[in-house]
Amino acid sequence: MIEERTLQLQHCMYQYSRAIYRSIKDLIDPYSDRESQIESRRAVLEACEQTMERLAKDPLYFAKPDRALFQDIRRYFPITAQAEVAWAVQAGVTAASTFIQEQIESGALDGGVARCRATTRKGKPCQRTPLPDRDYCPSHQHLEARAAA
Ligand SMILES: [Zn+2]
Repeated sequence: MIEERTLQLQHCMYQYSRAIYRSIKDLIDPYSDRESQIESRRAVLEACEQTMERLAKDPLYFAKPDRALFQDIRRYFPITAQAEVAWAVQAGVTAASTFIQEQIESGALDGGVARCRATTRKGKPCQRTPLPDRDYCPSHQHLEARAAA
């Protein structure tokens, strides 16, 4: 189950990163030679993918991902395109963050990391990592057997 969700999330993040890349790739410095353009495109695509990966893994601890991505890639664009790139990056990253936030709120994701589904004696969610392919951690695994029964 957890793996399936992760795959689905990765697929969605890939779509978001492609969308951002597509919206800005034609703005990459048009005056450089063909080879540097290809290099620049590759670097921009990679930066988009890395940002989305990090956002998926660490959604609660990745502050201002749009600004981080813009800082990483702005040098590949001419001055005249900077504002448009900043806007496109912000729109694309915001869409991806919103999507992840919705996943967390719907319970499909817990900050990007799987957590045991049990509640502790103090009434708080257990923070331990579940056993592989299970919903509960070692000290709560008896709950899973009960749920299945
Ligand atoms: Zn537990």
